Amino acid sequence: MVSRRLQPFGTTIFTEITARAQAVGAVNLAQGFPDFDGPDFVKQAAIQAIEGGQAQYARMTGIPALHEAIAGWYARRRGLTVQPGDGIVVTSGATEAIHDAVVGLCDPGDEVVLFEPFYDSYHAVIRMAGATPRAVRLHAPDWTFDPAELAAAFGPRTRLVIVNTPHNPTGRVMRADELDAIAALAIAHDVTVLADEVYEELVYDGQHVSIATRPGMADRTITVSSLGKTFSLTGWKVGWAVGAPERLVALRRAHQFVTFATATPLQWAAATALNADDATLDAIREPFLVRRAQLVDGLAALDFDVTAPEGGYFATVGFRRHGWTSDTQAVDALMALGVAAIPPSSFYLDAPGGLPWVRFAFCKRTDTIAEGLRRLGAGLGCASHPVEGANPEQAKPRPQ
Ligand code: PMP
Ligand code: GLN
Repeated sequence: MVSRRLQPFGTTIFTEITARAQAVGAVNLAQGFPDFDGPDFVKQAAIQAIEGGQAQYARMTGIPALHEAIAGWYARRRGLTVQPGDGIVVTSGATEAIHDAVVGLCDPGDEVVLFEPFYDSYHAVIRMAGATPRAVRLHAPDWTFDPAELAAAFGPRTRLVIVNTPHNPTGRVMRADELDAIAALAIAHDVTVLADEVYEELVYDGQHVSIATRPGMADRTITVSSLGKTFSLTGWKVGWAVGAPERLVALRRAHQFVTFATATPLQWAAATALNADDATLDAIREPFLVRRAQLVDGLAALDFDVTAPEGGYFATVGFRRHGWTSDTQAVDALMALGVAAIPPSSFYLDAPGGLPWVRFAFCKRTDTIAEGLRRLGAGLGCASHPVEGANPEQAKPRPQ
C-alpha cells in the first residue's frame, strides 16, 4: 500500500519509543518534548486570540503581525535582516518548513548533502522529493566533520545542503569556521543552504552563529526555526522559514499546497512570544542549564561517558562500561530498567553496527530526570547514587 519512496521508513523512532515507554511506564527521556508548560503570557495570548474570534484562515505566508515579530526577533537576537512579506513563510512546525524547502527545491535525481547523525525527517523528505541523500559523518567524540569528506560529498547534482546547529542528537554547536567551510562549498557549487536552527536560543557553551550571517550567505540560506523549541510549546507546531525572497519562492510554492496556512490564533500568540523583551528571552535557557547539569552529572556518576552538550535538548552518551553491544540493545536494557532513550542508529543512512551511544533528553522536569536517574542507579547496581533535586517542582505530571 505504501509508496516505494516511503516503504523504508516505517514508524518514526520517537513514536515507537514513546509508545513503548507508555506501555511499560518508563520515564520518557527519549522524545524531545518538555513535560512542563510553556510561558503563561504566550498561553494567555492564544486564549485572547481565540476569544477575540481569530478563527479563519491566516494569510498564506503568515499573519503580518507575526512577520513583524519574526523580523524584529532575528534583527535583535541573530543580527539577521529579514524581510516581512516575501522573506518569511510561517509553517506548521519546523518539520513542515524542512519538507517544503526540500520538496520545493529538489527534483528527482538531485542530491542533498546532510550531516549524520541527523534529525530523522531530513532523510524521509529527501526521498519524498525523489532526491538522493549524501551524508557526511560527524565524528565522535567531538562531533566534528572532516573538510575533505564534506568536499567529496558535493557534486554536479548537489542542490541543497542541510546544516543543523545546535545539533540534534549530539548537542554540538557549530563554530563560525566550520560554517564558513560549508559556506565556501555552497558558494562554489551554487547550492542553497537549509539551516535548521530550532535550538538557537538553547545554547549553553559557546555561541550560536546563523550561517546566513556569514559572508556571502544571506542570499543563499533558508533559515528555519520553531516556536515549539524556544518556548517549550512543541505541540503547537508553529515554525517558520526566512530567507531571500527569490530562494523562499520554492518553499512557499510547496507550503501553499501542503498546509496553505498555520493555525491563526497560535500565530497571534507566537507574535506575542517573539516580541518579548531580551531579558525574558535570555531567561529561557536558565532552567535548561540546570537540567543539563542534572542529567550529565547523574549519568557520569552512573558510569556513562558523557560530554556536556553545548546546546539543544539532548545528550548523546557512551555506555561502553555497561557492556551493551549496540545502541538498540542498550535502549532495550534501559527500557527494562524503566527509562526510555533513543537509539541514534535511526539518525544514519546506513548506521554502522554496534553504535556505542544512546540519546537522552533533558528538556524534562527536574523530578522526571531525578526519577530516571534513580531507576538507572537502582537497576545498574549504583543504588547509592544521590538523587538530588528530587521533586523541586510542583508541576503536575501530564499525559504524554
Ligand atoms: N529540527 C530539529 C533538529 C528537531 O530536533 C526538531 C524536533 N522537533 C524539528 C526540526 C521539528 O520541529 P517542529 O516541532 O517545530 O516541527
Ligand atoms: N525533535 C524531537 C526529538 O528529536 C521529536 C520530534 C518528533 O517526535 N517528531 O526527539
